[in-house]
Amino acid sequence: MLTNEDVIIVGAGIGGLVLALELHAHGVPCRVFEAAPEIKPLGMGINIQPYATEVLDGLGLLEALESHAVVTGEFLFCNQHGQEIYRSPAGRAAGHVFPQLSIHRGDLHAVLLDAVRSRIGSDRVSTGWRCVGTGQFDDRAWATFAHGTEVSTVEGAAVVGCDGIHSVVYRELFPYGPALRYSGTNMWRGTSVFPDFLSGASMVRAGLPAEGKIVVYPIRRDIDGRGNNLVNWVVEIDTPLSDPTGVTALGRTEDFADRFARWHFDWLDIPDLLSRSVGPVLEVPMMDRDPLDRWSSGRITLLGDAAHPLVPLGSNGGGQAVLDARSLASHLAEDIPVEQALDRYEEERRAHTASIVLGDRRGVVDLMVREVDRRTLGLPFERLSDVISSEELAVLAVPNYQDAEIEPSPYV
Ligand SMILES: Cc1cc2nc3c(=O)[nH]c(=O)nc-3n(C[C@H](O)[C@H](O)[C@H](O)COP(=O)(O)OP(=O)(O)OC[C@H]3O[C@@H](n4cnc5c(N)ncnc54)[C@H](O)[C@@H]3O)c2cc1C
Repeated sequence: MLTNEDVIIVGAGIGGLVLALELHAHGVPCRVFEAAPEIKPLGMGINIQPYATEVLDGLGLLEALESHAVVTGEFLFCNQHGQEIYRSPAGRAAGHVFPQLSIHRGDLHAVLLDAVRSRIGSDRVSTGWRCVGTGQFDDRAWATFAHGTEVSTVEGAAVVGCDGIHSVVYRELFPYGPALRYSGTNMWRGTSVFPDFLSGASMVRAGLPAEGKIVVYPIRRDIDGRGNNLVNWVVEIDTPLSDPTGVTALGRTEDFADRFARWHFDWLDIPDLLSRSVGPVLEVPMMDRDPLDRWSSGRITLLGDAAHPLVPLGSNGGGQAVLDARSLASHLAEDIPVEQALDRYEEERRAHTASIVLGDRRGVVDLMVREVDRRTLGLPFERLSDVISSEELAVLAVPNYQDAEIEPSPYV
């Protein structure tokens, strides 16, 4: 049973902030510690799938999020010649009760952080506090933080590592656990100011990482009063790993623009899109980690990317962190020992997220484009139906995650 002590949340990313809100909703006190000195509207776009917008709606945040976001209406898969291979409705348009949202990470964070500060209290979120160690006794757990020139230890009923893909809490718990694994694909992420294309709310995946792939979707509408949107793009190219630490670095469009120099589709001009890039370009190696047998030890556990980093092919990582947060908070609110609550949380979430990690590792999201590319030797086709039947596409469109118990795929 939780005593009236705080749950110590390490990291104020998507998972940490949603966990704080869920705990608060269940009457469980918490404190959040974030390494960054300030939480700024950095980053690019993210897609939140209906299974996660449902949880955010339960927290009363959907209206605020929708007011910033583009409500995703469809998915389009095409080859490097811009020829359509598969199109399907998304979110509400596909019959889900809750929408799929394409949103700037800064907007998402601002909504979550405002809610945490106003509901739980600004003094419950400390920025500039970097976790450097964790530990526990029978009746409590602690985390040590470096902040400024000081080091402080904070005790609580439990410690939850929500500190992302390079988690310190993970390494503390499992010093000999598996390391991050590079997928062989590097990503460059950026945003451009660009007019509507297709439905104005389409998420496009074009090409394959071997030659060059780009994912494009709008995340803010009419940002200049002249109908131009802020459009998120992610370039994926198979490349040897340049920096073995795998950390995000600043990149340049010149690093990859030549791959796309001839991608002038009738409906979207990729060189034009890239030339209208605004703000920084980030270079991110695509990494995951073998699923773990355990996420917890005693009163300390992991959540989100710290627990199950995955390659971001299926727009799932953030959404899974949201589901973790809901599950963990509900079990910590039960009248049972903390260790048992953490066991129940793992039981609910571990196999499920492992199946997504392994499915994304197999590149399930690229299967349709890959098969068409194989049959056409990468050349344009005359008629898609001469290359592949709609029945074959329908089979490939449902990602074959090993464990059938998965969330809806991003495009069905
Ligand atoms: C290119 C790309 C595209 C993606 N697209 C999508 C998408 O469309 N949909 C989707 O659902 N997911 C997507 N993801 C995945 C998603 O971004 C992550 O899964 C999600 O951010 C994980 O949330 P988190 O809270 O676990 O970690 P994070 O969001 O990484 O947050 C971790 C937080 O912990 C802090 N921290 C780190 N170390 C410490 C420390 N020692 N002490 C204190 N604080 C610390 C960090 O500063 C950060 O604020 C994408 C990822 C990438 C790279």
